[in-house]
Amino acid sequence: MTSKLLCAAFVLAALPLSITFSLQPDQQKVLLVSFDGFRWDYLYRVPTPHFHHVMKHGVRVKQVTNIFITKTYPNHYTLVTGLFAENHGVVANDMFDPMLNKSFSLDNMNIYDSEFWEEATPIWITNQRAGHASGAAMWPGTDVKIHESFPAHYMPYNASVSFEERVAKIIEWFTSKEPINLGLLYWEDPDDMGHHLGPDSPLMGPVISDIDNKLGYLMQMLKKANLWDTLNLIITSDHGMTQCSEERVIELDQYLDRDLYLLIDGSPVAAILPKEGKFDEVYEALAHAHPNLTVYKKEEIPERWHYKYNNRVQPIIAVADEGWYILQNKSEGLMLGNHGYDNALAEMHPIFLAHGPAFRKNFTKEAMSSTDLYPLLCHLLSIPAMPHNGSLRRVQDLLSSTTPRRMAHTQSPPPHRGHGKPGEREQESNAYFIGVTLGSIIVIVFFIIFFKHLILSQIPALPSMQGEIAQPLLQA
Ligand SMILES: [Zn+2]
Repeated sequence: MTSKLLCAAFVLAALPLSITFSLQPDQQKVLLVSFDGFRWDYLYRVPTPHFHHVMKHGVRVKQVTNIFITKTYPNHYTLVTGLFAENHGVVANDMFDPMLNKSFSLDNMNIYDSEFWEEATPIWITNQRAGHASGAAMWPGTDVKIHESFPAHYMPYNASVSFEERVAKIIEWFTSKEPINLGLLYWEDPDDMGHHLGPDSPLMGPVISDIDNKLGYLMQMLKKANLWDTLNLIITSDHGMTQCSEERVIELDQYLDRDLYLLIDGSPVAAILPKEGKFDEVYEALAHAHPNLTVYKKEEIPERWHYKYNNRVQPIIAVADEGWYILQNKSEGLMLGNHGYDNALAEMHPIFLAHGPAFRKNFTKEAMSSTDLYPLLCHLLSIPAMPHNGSLRRVQDLLSSTTPRRMAHTQSPPPHRGHGKPGEREQESNAYFIGVTLGSIIVIVFFIIFFKHLILSQIPALPSMQGEIAQPLLQA
């Protein structure tokens, strides 16, 4: 009797631990997909049955606040680090670091200098440090050597590699003998066409339909590989897109002599490096130059952008109003669509959908921050999170309540130069506390019952003892 009870005690004591800490290995697989420049409302421009299928059987977040500046490289690095641009250091697609005396340029694909990436550690590295393998098909930065490592599998960036080839690689890696648990897949559209046509163009309809077909192809291939039901698929983007026009151009040459400054990054956030001794002259010339241009000294950049505390942010930035285009001279020509503007603008916001065993079904959430994706990914992969600016708690309602889950451990906040918003230290998940509390209650209740049983089982011996003890009292 006692041994049976002890055995039951052990099982019950172990139960809360298994509820809280075990995740089936299959449920820890994550495929993160980015369709560059997929604005949040493109989903409703034309029929997008595959996106809607994912939403119906998974989750969707309506408004994702991405990070400033709303450009490709800064935002893709935020998705995989959970850090604001000032903290991860990839502050623009075109940068100059005065300490390193080096430049970085997406236009020239001069992006392979490790030092520009090493202010942060992307998730594909952390995942591998935890003993797993990561695989990346063209995700920005995954073909750069960062902290002496690459993803276990990756494709050197080549825009001409088809979507189908990228998907084939991802499937191959997920189904190999030593499978990856984290896949990252990147596709250049609808960004390219959004720039070219402008998002308001009716010709964007077929572009969005094409992306929906690509998602359909990915779903089909995942089903064929028996991954669809076990893998957690997250579909997102880096930013949206807004309509520009030749009537909304701010021409810097009209206000400022080119000999006075270097233009490090162009539109819509002009990063201006005044030549030595020319700061005041440049600032005065630009400060009130145009009603649709807001000019900031570096130290005046609004805190909400988390964009001032980094060497790569230039001494002056000039930010255009939505839909306005900054050029040095009109002859340079402009794109009909652009992004990079204030991240508070809805038109800059990307999509966010997810499907898989870890996620709820047919659930829509109003808003999240793109920094919150990183702790969510770490949670799904059951790996420790590096210091970040996101919060798992803010997005935990996306997760299926029936899914066993494990909290992602987090290190201390980022020691970032002692300023800017520090990375939030992720608190223990609610699931963790519920698991532990429930477990403790079960164990306590069990032990009460157990000891009650133990005491009652001794009762037949008690009457004689009680009799002996009681007798003198009775006699007295
Ligand atoms: Zn773009």
